[in-house]
Order: sequence, then structure tokens, then C-alpha cells
Amino acid sequence: MRVSRHWRNKLFRYRLVGWRCVSCGAFHYSKPLVCKRCGSREFREVELPKTGKLLAYTMVKIAPKDFKDKAPYLVGLVELDDGTKILGQLTDFTKEELKEGARVEAVLRKIREDGENGIIEYGFKFRPEIHHPP
Ligand SMILES: [Zn+2]
Repeated sequence: MRVSRHWRNKLFRYRLVGWRCVSCGAFHYSKPLVCKRCGSREFREVELPKTGKLLAYTMVKIAPKDFKDKAPYLVGLVELDDGTKILGQLTDFTKEELKEGARVEAVLRKIREDGENGIIEYGFKFRPEIHHPP
């Protein structure tokens, strides 16, 4: 499985926050000028759940220029607990833990500011979910 251009484009766009329309409640990944559903211009920033499950993953062996020293690295498609699908870099996985359906949690880690080409910026990575004691 390889990371398609579609995936890569999504990767740069999605953060763990989104925008909810104040008037109709529609969810938007990035702040739109007007709500696509109702035309309102008022939005509230909402945080997405930090946990979910791994739907798919892939090893990136040939990294973008600014990431050459980081390759190879893992990228995963994660379904958050509210159903939002999000793409992020994976971290701290052992071979045994790395499987489809594995529970994951997001850790906010700024890895890099916009590179010279303005392409790469990850705000977070996903790691295996740690079961915190109640
Ligand atoms: Zn709306």
C-alpha cells in the first residue's frame, strides 16, 4: 500500500481541531467563509477526540525533501471516536502493536514548521493508546 497524493494532501490539511457552525452545527475541517449547509458565517473551534482506531497504515520510505532524515516513517489513517477520519504520522509502535484496528491516541508534537516549500507540517502523531488508570 502506498500513500496516494490524495492522502498526502489531506495530511497537511487536517488538524485535531475543526470548526462547527454556530447556527446549524455542521462540522468543517477548516474554517470556511460561509457554512456550506446554512450560509452562516459564525463558527466555533471544536476539538476532535484524541483517540480512535487505526484503519490502515503505510511505511513511507522515500520522504519529501524536508523529511529525508526522518525516513522511513509510518503514516496511518485513523478513525477518531466521533467517526472523523484523519491521517497522521505514527510513533512508538512495536511490530506487534502495528495492526489494523489497533487503538491509538494522538500526541501533540510539533515536528516541523513549514519547510522551504511550505509543504510539511504535522501537529501531532498517533501512538498506541495507553490505558490510563481510572
Ligand atoms: Zn451552518
